[in-house]
Amino acid sequence: MHLTFKPYELQLKHTFTLATSSRTTTPVMLTMLEHEGITGYGEASMPPYLGESHETVARFLNKVNLSDFNDPLRMDEILLYIDAIEPGNRAAKASIDIALHDLAGKIMNLPWYKIWGLNKEKTPYTTYTIGIDTKDVVIEKTREASDFKILKVKLGRKNDKEMIETIRSVTRMPLCVDANQGWKDKYQALDMIHWLNEQGIIFVEQPMPKEQTNDMAWLTAHSPLPTIADEAFQRLSDIPKLKDLYSGINIKLMKSTGMREAKKMIDVARALNLKVMIGCMTETSCAISAAAQLSPLVDWADLDGALLISNDIFKGMEVINGKVTLNDLPGIGIKMR
Ligand code: MG
Repeated sequence: MHLTFKPYELQLKHTFTLATSSRTTTPVMLTMLEHEGITGYGEASMPPYLGESHETVARFLNKVNLSDFNDPLRMDEILLYIDAIEPGNRAAKASIDIALHDLAGKIMNLPWYKIWGLNKEKTPYTTYTIGIDTKDVVIEKTREASDFKILKVKLGRKNDKEMIETIRSVTRMPLCVDANQGWKDKYQALDMIHWLNEQGIIFVEQPMPKEQTNDMAWLTAHSPLPTIADEAFQRLSDIPKLKDLYSGINIKLMKSTGMREAKKMIDVARALNLKVMIGCMTETSCAISAAAQLSPLVDWADLDGALLISNDIFKGMEVINGKVTLNDLPGIGIKMR
């Protein structure tokens, strides 16, 4: 197997504002894994706050030596080797995992949802994210999103109620919210969740700072809405300790090191009676389509990452009438545009 990679810069359609930062581009690394004339594609997405970059991913990928692995279907051995090269580097590891899944699926001539025995009719609706912005922009973005069936609203600043009221002035669509650790006081957080519950919100992602574990356990125990761990949760081994702190987890391939571990996360979360959401960073249709293969297994999907960029070089999973819609291309279901 032969690994190659190239840096790429995603252009965001709108400035992306979270509780803690704003940006207009996201660096990604595109990977290609070739074996006997078949190429699998992968991707690492590196939003700056997660600490990986074109440089760190290139450094990691340059350490990868696949010359001892001649059978791409022995995925377990290959991916255990990749994970053991160095700790961290989760997006870099995901870029190989995704390319290997694409390659192996192409060799088997099946899409991954079929290999896993899943029903593509059972894919969820995806949320579409409305970032923190001025009232006029929020109204415009909400109107643009009328094809979706559920919106995700970024909260965690001073104007949270105003954001929701602005969106509610345009639509009655179900909403979920992501506070990105923005609420610091558990009593205020609970008051806000009760208010949100009356506004038709269906769950709350990462309401409080991930370090405030006692507060989170209290909040989840009292909350009328499910609480979902995102920043508090990266790898499979994190799940048992989150069991009593949150109602569910947000799995992202860039945190889980790819599809192999993400699938295991879903199995473990279900065994622990946790809700499961599959999310993304800003990514091309490559990593988004890889995540979408797992989506028949989850409660909620937040797979709008490729819709937020203007220079997607892949065609893959499509959002049709708000629903994650899988095609039958082998592997992760993508083609170059
Ligand atoms: Mg989040």
